[in-house]
Parts: sequence; C-alpha cells; structure tokens
Amino acid sequence: MGELWVDGGRCQGHARCWALAPETFEIDEEGYAHVIPGRENSGDEPNVRKAIRNCPERAILERETDDAGEKAEEVSTS
Ligand code: SF4
Repeated sequence: MGELWVDGGRCQGHARCWALAPETFEIDEEGYAHVIPGRENSGDEPNVRKAIRNCPERAILERETDDAGEKAEEVSTS
C-alpha cells in the first residue's frame, strides 16, 4: 500500500473526496484537497477507496514505497 497524496496540478476542488472521506481529506482555503497529515496510509479504508474512485480528476494518487517501507525517490527536474 502506497502513501496517499493529492496532485495539486490535477485537483479541481470538487471536494467530493472530502464528502466521502472527511477523516482523510481536508479542503484548504482555496478549495483544493489535501491528505490530512498522519492519514497518508489510510488508502485501504473503504471510504478512502471510494473517494479515490470518485475523484473526477484522478487527482488522488498513491506514492509507491519500496520493500523497506522507505519513500521511493521522486524524480525532480529542478
Ligand atoms: S475529488 Fe479530486 S478533484 Fe475534487 S477536491 Fe478531491 S482530489 Fe480534488
């Protein structure tokens, strides 16, 4: 199971994720969703799975972790 995150470049602020799983997603003052700190590993909970499936922008993603449970390196272009 990977670590949940919301791709801010895709999120359009429908708040559908928050409506379905408010224990995992929060909406910022601009209306965009974020994963609540400490809830990054809740991706196997039924509400959260439903929220992932219902995001119209496919903005809720899971970051792969390696076998040791470490965060995989993210490619940076900067
Ligand atoms: S449902 Fe998807 S697009 Fe809408 S606020 Fe949540 S993450 Fe963003």
